[in-house]
Amino acid sequence: MNKKIAIAIDGPGGAGKSTISKAVAKRLGIIYVDTGALYRTVGYYGREHGLSVEDVKVSEKITPMLDDIRIEIKYIDGTQHVILNGEDLGDKIRQPDISMYASAVSSVPSVRAFLLEAQKELARKNSVIMDGRDIGTVILPDAEVKIFMTASDEARAQRRYKELLSKGIEANFDDVLKELRERDHADSTRAAAPLKPADDAHIFDNSDCDFNASVEYIIKFVEEKTGVKAVEK
Ligand code: C5P
Repeated sequence: MNKKIAIAIDGPGGAGKSTISKAVAKRLGIIYVDTGALYRTVGYYGREHGLSVEDVKVSEKITPMLDDIRIEIKYIDGTQHVILNGEDLGDKIRQPDISMYASAVSSVPSVRAFLLEAQKELARKNSVIMDGRDIGTVILPDAEVKIFMTASDEARAQRRYKELLSKGIEANFDDVLKELRERDHADSTRAAAPLKPADDAHIFDNSDCDFNASVEYIIKFVEEKTGVKAVEK
C-alpha cells in the first residue's frame, strides 16, 4: 500500500490540469479533486437566482446566498460529482458562461472561505491530486508535490475549444481565446488568493507536450518526489 500523499496542481484554464490529473489519479490509485467545480457551483447558484456576472462579484449580493448553499462532493466510480442542495449538477456547470460566473465569485473572500474547509478535509482523509488556482499556495501549502501547469494562450484555447465541441457545446475559437485571457487576467490580478505558482512549485509548460507525454511526465515527477509507485498503463 502506498503512503498518503497530496499533489497540488495549479495553473490557468485550458492547461490540461483536469484531464491530466484525472489520468494521473487513476494510475496512482488516488482521488482527483476538481476544485474549480466548487466555484462553478456557487456561480451557478448565483445565476439561477437572478444575479449577473457583475452582481456575483459583489460580496453583499453573493455572501447572503451562501447560507442557502449546501455543497456535497461525492465519488461515484472514481468520478467526482458535485451535489448542490441535493441535486447532482453534472455538466450544467461546464457551460462557458458558468466559467465567467465561477471566476467572478472566486474573487470574493467569503466565497473562498466558504469552500476552504471542504477542500482541506478531502486531503486530510485521502491521498489526492487536487487542481485549481491556489492549491499549492493556500489550500495545501504542505503538499509534497506542487506543479504549476501552463501552456501558451493559443494552445490552451485550442484544447478548450475542442473539449467544448466534443461535449456538443457550441463554441467559437476567437471567443474561447478571449474568454480564457479575460479569466487569466481576472484570476491572476485579484486580491484574494490570486493565480500564481507557489514558491516551491515546479513549472510545467506543456504547450508542446501531448496528453500522454504530460501524464508520463507528471507520474515520473511524483514517483521521484514521493517514492510512491504508479501502476503501468
Ligand atoms: O478550473 P476551472 O476552469 O473549472 O475554474 C473555474 C474558475 O474558478 C477559475 O477561473 C477561477 O476563477 C476559479 N477557481 C479558483 N480557485 C480554484 C479553482 C478555481 O479561484 N482553486
